[in-house]
Amino acid sequence: MKASAIRPEFVECIPKLREPGVLYVSEKYRTASHLCACGCGEKVVTPLSPADWHLSMDGGKVSLHPSIGNWNYACKSHYWIRRNGISWAGSMSKGQIERVQARDFADRASQVAQINRERDEQRATASDGFFGRVLRALRGLLKL
Ligand SMILES: [Zn+2]
Repeated sequence: MKASAIRPEFVECIPKLREPGVLYVSEKYRTASHLCACGCGEKVVTPLSPADWHLSMDGGKVSLHPSIGNWNYACKSHYWIRRNGISWAGSMSKGQIERVQARDFADRASQVAQINRERDEQRATASDGFFGRVLRALRGLLKL
C-alpha cells in the first residue's frame, strides 16, 4: 500500500531492519534511508550532500530534495518527501523517466563541477600565497 506520510527518526547508524513509514537520518554518516513508500520493501538510501539529496527541517517536519525516483526497482515509484508527507508523482512513461534521470544527471554534473571549481579557486588562492610570492620574487630577480 502506498504510504502518505513518513516520520523522521534521527539515529547514529541506519538500522539493518527498517520500519516502513520511518525516514532514518544519520547526521554522522550524512545519509538518510527509508523503505520504499510504495510498500514493496526495497531499501532506499539517499546520501545527504550538495551533489545528492538535501534534507530540510521545518518545525520537526522533514523534506527531502530532489524527489525519490526508484526506477531501478520493480515498482518504479516516484515521490517527494515534503514536510513528513509523501506526494506521489503520476506514473511516468519510459521517455519521461529518462528525461528526469538525464536532468538529475545534469544537475549532479553541474553541482560536481561547481564543487570542483570552488576547490580549484581555493587552491589557486592558496598557491597565490606561496607560489605567487616565489614567482613574483623570481620575476623581480630576472627583471621580467
Ligand atoms: Zn517500491
